[in-house]
Amino acid sequence: MTLRHSLALALLTFVPACSSPAPATESKPAAATPAPPPTERKYLLERVDDASVVQLYADGFSTLPLKQKSLIWHLYQAALAGRDIFIDQKHKDALEMRGIIERIVANPQGVDATTLAEVQRYTKLFWLNNGPYNNLTARKFVLTGKPDAFAAAAKTAGADPAAVARLQPMFFDPTVDTIVTNKTPGAGKDILQSSANNLYSGVTMADLKGFDEKYGLNSRLVKQNGKLVEEVYRIDGRYGKQITEIVKHLDAAKEFAEPPMAKALEALITFYRTGEVKDREQYDIAWVQDKVSPVDTINGFIEVYLDPRGIKGGWEALVFYVNQEKTGRIKTIATNAQWFEDHMPWDAKYRKASVQGIVANAIDVVVETGDSGPITPIGINLPNDQAIREKFGSKSVALSNVNEAYDRSTPGSMRGEFAWSPEEVARATQFGTFAAELTTDMHEVIGHASGKQAEGKGNPQALIKEEFSALEEGRADLIGLYFIADPKVVELGIIPAADHEATVRTEYESYTRNAMVQLRRIREGSQIEEDHMRNRQMIVRWLMANTKAIEERTRDGKTYLVMVDAKLFRDGVGKLLAEVQRIKSEGDYAAAKKLFATYGVHFDPKLRDQVVARVEKLNLPSYTGFVMPKLTPVMTNGQMTDVTISYPQDLTQQMLEYSGIRK
Ligand SMILES: [Zn+2]
Repeated sequence: MTLRHSLALALLTFVPACSSPAPATESKPAAATPAPPPTERKYLLERVDDASVVQLYADGFSTLPLKQKSLIWHLYQAALAGRDIFIDQKHKDALEMRGIIERIVANPQGVDATTLAEVQRYTKLFWLNNGPYNNLTARKFVLTGKPDAFAAAAKTAGADPAAVARLQPMFFDPTVDTIVTNKTPGAGKDILQSSANNLYSGVTMADLKGFDEKYGLNSRLVKQNGKLVEEVYRIDGRYGKQITEIVKHLDAAKEFAEPPMAKALEALITFYRTGEVKDREQYDIAWVQDKVSPVDTINGFIEVYLDPRGIKGGWEALVFYVNQEKTGRIKTIATNAQWFEDHMPWDAKYRKASVQGIVANAIDVVVETGDSGPITPIGINLPNDQAIREKFGSKSVALSNVNEAYDRSTPGSMRGEFAWSPEEVARATQFGTFAAELTTDMHEVIGHASGKQAEGKGNPQALIKEEFSALEEGRADLIGLYFIADPKVVELGIIPAADHEATVRTEYESYTRNAMVQLRRIREGSQIEEDHMRNRQMIVRWLMANTKAIEERTRDGKTYLVMVDAKLFRDGVGKLLAEVQRIKSEGDYAAAKKLFATYGVHFDPKLRDQVVARVEKLNLPSYTGFVMPKLTPVMTNGQMTDVTISYPQDLTQQMLEYSGIRK
């Protein structure tokens, strides 16, 4: 499970404790220097439509011992080696499309200025989203301008004219392959047929009845001559070329890893060779049992958000090291996980008698690719396999340097627009960042890790189907919202007693505002697709319908969602959480579907239009993609004697390097 950043949650909270100024967008690039003071270096690099491009920094890297740097270097190469897999999973033509537009961007000589600017805009969005679909709305974005001019530019740059002609509808026609993941295509329509991703080919949900799917997570399912065939992702199967490279680098990494991590890497290599479920389980177990390594990686077919069925994994990789300073708070929560489990506001039969092995760290990311980069989560809890979680526990990480980069790059001018009163703004200013970080920690560490299935009710993913991801994200959010208001967090020293009430109020206000502000991300239609957005909408709209904690008010023609009573808010959260847990534990698909259909999916497009208009005035981005740090090995007499880190501060340069087009 991942937790995505919701800019709106930080919308009014951009005031770091150290009162640094807003991001210095006009300052000189800090080039390759490892760590100038955070206030002086460049975070926000550029804006592309409604996306921000931000540089990610990993300050602690240069002080790591050589052994850990060497380990990271090999894992970093493994992460880059698989990058194209996820782009291909997004759409069957995506890599071919990328080849054409990258050629034009890299060879602009002779292309007219208007066409070039449009291709550059489109290509940057393509890079950020790993394909031609917006990651938030799941909808295709297209090239504007004349197809003829584009074809001429492609020809000038040396692209194959036949391919350009064939792909013209993908580049220009928004009605062709419109939605990458469509879980609610409307009555009588098939979710697989309505989704443009490349996890399936020619398959409908009806075809799956009675089909024995052996490689649910790691295969592409294809209908050939009326029969279903699983193209397994493994070293001699689909994506074999990329997987061979990944395995080579993982193999090289092993000798620099601590024993439990070396064991996990070995298990991962085995899984990449066989593709078998039992080997994936062995890998999950080995990974979760490695609780000590200061360096870690996630590499494989992990999250299922791209699949409308919620079964097939999108490829991703992250490489990171523990941020020792920031790990203290998250450890405190993790150490007390059993107390939280015992006090969950749900039926005792859904509580775990012993919560096992929650490992929680604040980490700094060195590189993220595939499903987790350039657009990155801010928190991750794995593995997703419920049976392994219950038996062996899970590991949670909070991505500290990603959060920091979000904070530093958020425009300061946003404060005020969606808050009802100056007091609300002041609270957000003082407590917002901390409140959001703490809720995120609890979401990951005690949220996803909590609860158990009812007797005889197995895998909740299978039972709750396409509603599962949003339900599970909602459950984890509710746990954060519930416990931030518990006196226990004061007792544990996480929040000072004097600040507790204001911190809680700040978080509830921020969460409430977000249900409205997040609508800016969906420019078309009147329906939410993305799971985290659905769950946040569901929670706030449920509270509005079932409690008196939130009021919708209007002033000067502007709508506001105002959190008016924190006690009622928390009571409501407790009630909703009890029901959400019951739905998960009992696998009550019908109740999940009804909950989201009522509160989570549909919204008033007029309200969205208003929000978009207000946001546009403020020039607020809808989402952020990150330029990753770059590693370079230092070789002395054929031996690697150091690995240096630098910050390219240029999306185009990094992406063309990744594709091997530029050095
Ligand atoms: Zn989550």
